[in-house]
Amino acid sequence: MTPEPVSLEAEVLYGINSIYMVLAGETRLQCRIKGKKLKEAQRSYNPIAPGDLVEVTPDAMSPNEGMISDVVPRRTRLVRWNKKGRAPQILAANADIAVCVTSPAAPPFRPRFIDRLIVAAETGGLTPLVVMNKCDLPCAERVSERLTHYHRMGYQVLSCSARTGEGVRELAAILRDRTAVFVGQSGVGKSSILNVLAPGLHLRVGDLSQKHDRGNHTTNFSVLLPLETGLRIIDTPGIRELELAEVLPEEVGFHFRDFAPYMQSCSYQPCLHDDEPRCAVAEAVQHGEIHADRYESYLRILQELRETRKAAHG
Ligand code: GDP
Ligand code: ZN
Repeated sequence: MTPEPVSLEAEVLYGINSIYMVLAGETRLQCRIKGKKLKEAQRSYNPIAPGDLVEVTPDAMSPNEGMISDVVPRRTRLVRWNKKGRAPQILAANADIAVCVTSPAAPPFRPRFIDRLIVAAETGGLTPLVVMNKCDLPCAERVSERLTHYHRMGYQVLSCSARTGEGVRELAAILRDRTAVFVGQSGVGKSSILNVLAPGLHLRVGDLSQKHDRGNHTTNFSVLLPLETGLRIIDTPGIRELELAEVLPEEVGFHFRDFAPYMQSCSYQPCLHDDEPRCAVAEAVQHGEIHADRYESYLRILQELRETRKAAHG
């Protein structure tokens, strides 16, 4: 009689083309998903993501291969809308902090990217952290003003420079004993920061054209990096547009903290603060009490969610 195969609990490091690299204790196993149910149960671009805890049955013949038979329900999830796949894509599972890496220039500062990441993080149960990299470069007044605004709203904001090392120790201290997912537009210096945090990593740093040459294989998926320094980091591909998924339009306003003092006073409840009459949020924008660009950012998210819903159902 052949003995029952023993199943192990493992953590997913990354997945490419339906093959998942998982870590069970000290052992890495290449796994496939067993059974249609698991593949279809989650109608997303990727049913399993870095950071997922899974049940794995090692192959009796080939000890570095196995089958994933179950996924432990996620504590948190960071999700974006994958336009090409027309489905939500889970960037990270079970992470605690969503680190939004930005830069004052090259590429230009994009606060609307931060707004989106805040919504994605908070709806998925993660705490956002705004990191302004390249603080060795001059910072325009309008950029520092926006950072101050995020800070006043209660978000943690940290300046650092991968080039000079400034602020990196503080960043490491915040991330200690947590799992952090790093998100940023290409070129903000995400790989450079990770290389300073964990010098053994040797992530490729460089200009964008070079990076794109690496092709989809290495630019298109997230990866959990269990580092010897005790940091647990999920690196995501450089993202140009962070489109939201799995967020309801009526939820978005709750993740714009500067809207909170006004929302109760809108005449229509629930109010989407779009074209409803006597909307206290829109009035606060007109009176200069809410930053006009934050409101614009909000409206674009609403519009986009309507479009992605259409794409998902159409
Ligand atoms: P990623 O696409 O976000 O991973 O960005 P990279 O780490 O590849 O960096 C993109 C470019 O920004 C490279 O030319 C880096 O040398 C440069 N860079 C990264 N960090 C800093 C920094 O702190 N200061 C300055 N001035 N340049 C930086
Ligand atoms: Zn309103």
